Amino acid sequence: MNRFLPDKPEWWALIRQRYRRDFRFAIMTLFGCLLMVVISGFIIFRLLIGDYYEAFINTCIVLSLAIVMLYAFRQSDSNRAGILFIFVNMTACVATTAMFGSTGLFWAYLVLWVNFLMARKRIAFFANLALILGLFFTESLYDTQLESITFLVTSLLITVFSLVFVERLQHQQEELERLAMQDPLTKIGNRRMMQHEIAHVVALFRRNEQPATLVLIDLDHFKKVNDQQGHEAGDEILRQFADLMRSNIRQADGFYRYGGEEFVLLLPDHDEASGLGVAQMMHQRVSGKIEQNGWVLRFSAGVAALKPEESPEAWLMRADQALYQAKQTGRNRVIVWDNNMSTGRRELAVDQPVD
Ligand code: GH3
Ligand code: MG
Ligand code: MG
Repeated sequence: MNRFLPDKPEWWALIRQRYRRDFRFAIMTLFGCLLMVVISGFIIFRLLIGDYYEAFINTCIVLSLAIVMLYAFRQSDSNRAGILFIFVNMTACVATTAMFGSTGLFWAYLVLWVNFLMARKRIAFFANLALILGLFFTESLYDTQLESITFLVTSLLITVFSLVFVERLQHQQEELERLAMQDPLTKIGNRRMMQHEIAHVVALFRRNEQPATLVLIDLDHFKKVNDQQGHEAGDEILRQFADLMRSNIRQADGFYRYGGEEFVLLLPDHDEASGLGVAQMMHQRVSGKIEQNGWVLRFSAGVAALKPEESPEAWLMRADQALYQAKQTGRNRVIVWDNNMSTGRRELAVDQPVD
């Protein structure tokens, strides 16, 4: 094995993750690399025919692109790198038109379109407007007035079409994200979103030792509602439960449907003591407060505070062990995880029956 290359490079995994998550970063680096290759071809051509000044300008463009991409790799925020990319693109376009006259205008169309992929719509729009007007009023680029007006109209059209297209794309992406992350019945986050947020909280704990607590909730004897009143009635209760829980939690807290009649309350910035306090308060406010045709909703909950170096799966499993104890010891209560549970003994750390 090569001693100088780690067998699983961490940087490669990080880049791949960023490619998947950050659309702007992906477009910027792909497009940037492609441009560098193409412009390098022009540099070789210019050197071969002895146009050293033009070759120098093109080299500056390639180097600027390389710097912007390096900056994008090093920064976690692609927005600033995107704005820099637009700046380099536009400067390159102006330099090209200054050197080669109207031939440079062909590049302008590419720049106008790509700007919308690199930065927020408003920034791209005003950058495009500045470039279009700058090129339109450079009279030396056109032989006739018809040419300049044609450039103005077509470049404005491409800007408007790009704006509309990017707006539609963003809207669809938001809609897809919502569909992928939301539980259709209760409209709260689904299991996928929960996993996403838990991973984020675990990362924060590792980096800043920011505590967090999980509360796994399971409705008691829920099957009876379906059996006695039908599935529709069960659905209605799940909706009411989610609404009531949601109206009682902080903005920063996460509430997700784990599956069926199981839910997860994720409490960032809460250690075991304060997390347990929130779980007990929620239990008092919600358990026993929803009623339908004589059936009263009650729930059991297992609480676990995140431990150092713990994986999301292990953390959830401990909350599940506490929930299991809550069910075993009579339901309708909140139990916090402690070491005795993992060793299978029955002494309970906190036991708070209600009613
Ligand atoms: P326990 O107190 O032990 O949790 O009893 P339980 O009846 O709640 O538990 P069990 O796991 O036996 O039953 C869960 C029931 O939840 C079974 C299923 O019919 C019902 N359920 C799961 N998802 C939905 C749903 O989306 N809508 C409705 N109406 N019922 C659901
Ligand atoms: Mg269950
Ligand atoms: Mg249940």
